[in-house]
Parts: sequence; C-alpha cells; structure tokens
Amino acid sequence: IGQENRGLEYMFVMMNAARYAVGLQGIAVAERAYQKAVAYARDRVQSRPVDGSMNAAATIIHHPDVKRMLMTMRAQIEGCRAMALVAAAAQDAAHAHPEAAVRKQNQVFYEFLVPLVKGFSTEMSIAVTSLGVQVHGGMGFIEETGAAQYYRDARILTIYEGTTAIQANDLIGRKTARDGGATARAICEQIQGTEALLAARGSDAARAMHKRLSAARRALLDVVAFVAGGLAKGSQDSPNAVFAGSVPYLLLAGNVIAGWQMARALLVAEDQLAAGVEVDFMRAKITTARFYGDHILSQVPGVRDSIVEGAAGVTEMALEAF
Ligand SMILES: Cc1cc2nc3c(=O)[nH]c(=O)nc-3n(C[C@H](O)[C@H](O)[C@H](O)COP(=O)(O)OP(=O)(O)OC[C@H]3O[C@@H](n4cnc5c(N)ncnc54)[C@H](O)[C@@H]3O)c2cc1C
Repeated sequence: IGQENRGLEYMFVMMNAARYAVGLQGIAVAERAYQKAVAYARDRVQSRPVDGSMNAAATIIHHPDVKRMLMTMRAQIEGCRAMALVAAAAQDAAHAHPEAAVRKQNQVFYEFLVPLVKGFSTEMSIAVTSLGVQVHGGMGFIEETGAAQYYRDARILTIYEGTTAIQANDLIGRKTARDGGATARAICEQIQGTEALLAARGSDAARAMHKRLSAARRALLDVVAFVAGGLAKGSQDSPNAVFAGSVPYLLLAGNVIAGWQMARALLVAEDQLAAGVEVDFMRAKITTARFYGDHILSQVPGVRDSIVEGAAGVTEMALEAF
C-alpha cells in the first residue's frame, strides 16, 4: 500500500479529496436553498412595494430586502463555486501539465485552496441556508417547505472532515507559516494582475470591483504578514495571538479568493456582453459580481482589523472568567 513512513503524506491525498468534496456539498445545498427561496419569493404575496409601483400587495421578490437576501445567497454561491472550479483546474494541472515546474506550482496553489474550499464554502452554506429560511418567513421555520431541512443538512458540513478551526490550523501552519507566506503573497500578485485589468475598464461595475478587490488584497497581505511573522522562528509574539484569528483568517482568505474569481468573471462577462453573447446571463453575472464586491468583499478590511489588532480581546480573558 506504499512506502514505509509516508503514511501521513498518503493520508493527506485522501483528506484533500474528502475535504474538497465536503466543500462541494456546501455549494450544492446552498444552491438548492437559493432555488427554493427564489421560487417562494416569486409566489408569496405580502405588502405593497415601497416604490409605489403597485397599488396592491405584491410578491415578496419586489421588496428590496428580499432581493438583497437573494443576491447575498446567489453571490456567495457563485463565488464559492468559481473558487472550487479554479481549485479543481489547478489539481488537474498538478497531475497532467507536461512541465514539472508548472505541476509543482499548481499543486501548491491547490493545497492552499483546499482548506478554503472546505472551510469557507461550508460556513457560507450555513449562512445561505439560514437566509433561505428567512426568505420563507414563518413558513421556513416550520418543516413543510423543506427550507429548514437544508439549514440542518448544512450544519454538519463545518464539522465533519475536520471542523473549520482544523481547516484554519492547516491554512496557518502548513499553508502559510511553513513557507513564510510565500504562496499567499504569490496569489496576491495574481490578484493584482486582475486589478490592473479592472482599472483599464471604464465601467462603473469594474471601477467598484477594483476598489473592493484592491482593499481586500491589501488586507489579506497584512494578515499573512501577521500570521507568518507571529509564527516565525525567534518571534516574541505568542502563537495564541495568531491562532485567536485562525478562523477569521480562513474566512477572510476564502472571501478574497472567491471575490477575485467574481472579478475575473465580471471581466469576461463584460467582453461577452459587448459581443452580444447571452446578454441576460452576462448582465446578471456583472450585477452579481458587483454585489459581491460591494457587499461581501467590502467586509474584508474590517476582518483584517479584528485579526491584526483584536487578538487581545481573546487572549486577555482569563480561563477562570468563563
Ligand atoms: C454525522 C457525522 C458523520 C461523521 N462521519 C465520519 C466518518 O465517516 N469518518 C470519520 O472518521 N469521522 C466521521 N465523523 C467525525 C467527525 O469527523 C468529527 O466529529 C469532527 O472531525 C470533529 O471532531 P470531534 O467531534 O472530536 O470534535 P472536537 O475535536 O472535540 O471539537 C470540538 C470543538 O473544539 C474545536 N477544536 C478542537 N481541536 C482544536 C484545535 N486544535 N484548534 C482549534 N479548535 C479546536 C473544534 O473546532 C470544535 O469547535 C462524523 C461526525 C458526524 C457528526
């Protein structure tokens, strides 16, 4: 079954595949919750629209807050799905590319993404299936619509195949501190390439995405420096300060990588729209990407502050005080 003393390494081949698959479970259940929520929002009639466009109660999809919930669900699912596909492509290239150096580069990239696909997509699935319940109102809380079943099904995904904290420990230890943050910084350089393409566009959507992506990428670099520096040999910092921000770092990194894919999708969708290809799909993709930038990527700098400046709020509480 293999060479002696390489068992742990072999086990991680299986673990990476299993963790990746659980991330896909999260994306799948979130997608189903979204489809059900959209169908309900098109059917349920409640209250007049705030813009006065109808003189009678409308279906709830007319209400801006319901649309916001549906956009939050949709944008997060699309971001996580794109990140998972990029990870899968990297794994294919890691196996099949003719050049050894490119295979190695893709393997390192894939391994960095695995805890993000697992941890970020499954945490996303809890948030999205919870929103699915919320869109259904009271009908979501009781069992007959099935919305609550998705929420309950999602709840195991952040636990089995290693909890989100265990994914975050992997991200911090093996994927960030071990190479001094080199892989994370190389990814940030690629993100900067996308920023340059966005900056060259004239559209409002590209401008908005450029602003959010560059702020998020800078925040990720700060956190990587905090993590790699805090755990470097000879550092005076306590590892507790770094690990107090472990899951927030995973969620931040997942948000940035998923948001980066939405930025790339925005660029492609603008080109396709200009060429007249699948116009409705491309418009929706651009709006969804912009929503991701303004509503989801925009949270990244605040999370950076919690990690880099907020560890004391965790480390200073005496264990006896709980
Ligand atoms: C429905 C179901 C199906 C399962 N299927 C399988 C299966 O097929 N095969 C299999 O092998 N296992 C399976 N498991 C087990 C599953 O993988 C574990 O439950 C999971 O890995 C968490 O371990 P634990 O339950 O021991 O929790 P614990 O390790 O006790 O974790 C409790 C809490 O402490 C945190 N924690 C623990 N250690 C650390 C740390 N070092 N740093 C930070 N936080 C930490 C965790 O994040 C969590 O919040 C299954 C579990 C369930 C519920």
